[in-house]
Amino acid sequence: MSQPPTKRAVSALLASRCPHCSSVARVRTRKHVTFTVDELYFQCSNLWCGCSWKSQLSVLHIISPSATPREGLDIPVTPHAPRPVPANDPGVAIPPAANDEAVSDTA
Ligand SMILES: [Zn+2]
Repeated sequence: MSQPPTKRAVSALLASRCPHCSSVARVRTRKHVTFTVDELYFQCSNLWCGCSWKSQLSVLHIISPSATPREGLDIPVTPHAPRPVPANDPGVAIPPAANDEAVSDTA
């Protein structure tokens, strides 16, 4: 059974680079603003730099639609993702079964 990620592992996933010295920067605080926007407060790991800043993390588009979509939340679906097409869609051509030739019309 897998262990839940440690706080340090989660922090490593949210690492970035300092805009001034390019050292690794870690998220120190995170504020949930809306369903699609979080604010992240970064701190540079370079003691001689000492820079800290606020960044924004937002949902740009949906790659795979949710099975439980939130009502009223309209996030565009990425134009590059293939859209699922219902099997009974009249616009979908149904290919003949691979064994159609084996069936005889003797009935
Ligand atoms: Zn820095």
